[in-house]
Amino acid sequence: MNTHTDRDFDHRSDPAFTALAGRCFEWDDLEHHPWPAAGLWPDGTIAYVNPAWSVFAHQNGGGMVVDREWSLGANYFSAITDTLRPFFTDLLANAPTTQQSLAPYTHEYECSSADEFRRFALQIFALPDKRGYMLVHSLLVAAPHDVSTHPISDPDIKHYETADGVIKQCAHCRRVERRNQIVHWDWVPAWVKHPPASITHTICALCHSFYYSHLSRHRH
Ligand SMILES: [Zn+2]
Repeated sequence: MNTHTDRDFDHRSDPAFTALAGRCFEWDDLEHHPWPAAGLWPDGTIAYVNPAWSVFAHQNGGGMVVDREWSLGANYFSAITDTLRPFFTDLLANAPTTQQSLAPYTHEYECSSADEFRRFALQIFALPDKRGYMLVHSLLVAAPHDVSTHPISDPDIKHYETADGVIKQCAHCRRVERRNQIVHWDWVPAWVKHPPASITHTICALCHSFYYSHLSRHRH
């Protein structure tokens, strides 16, 4: 059971979820985990976030929105781009129970900052009888960007904003699509650091095929 005494904990964990997940986890492990962890009910409602959840969001340009719209009681899937939502709902549906496997499902992904290439692992733990899930992110690799793979482009709106007034950014590699070109995505670190208001998220073809091709296999 939960023995965590942080006053703030009650604002970050639904008491029913605290009781459920407390059968599987030591809360201090999650509370002190340096990267985001979130507990979900089966319908995707956020039932727990650790302190790193908000810290990470603030460091990556989404802080206020995450605090307001992607915290306890909100739906986890609401902030995931339409293209990737089926992938994440499938991950939960197919997460092995502890009766099936003691190894949680792990999905590796890129979430670079403006200065560093970063690769993370997302582990998905199914709680007893799949009455909830714990999603735990961990940093695997962080290194300064290699300019040969990440040549820097300037944040020039006229090269990227479509006729509809939006800038398309890949939710995975965070490159932005050049206007009027079918397949050309540029690394614009200034917009990773400070996203313009007109940015929308999608997934570029390379990330889709490399990281999410099993989504296509699931769905078709
Ligand atoms: Zn991409």
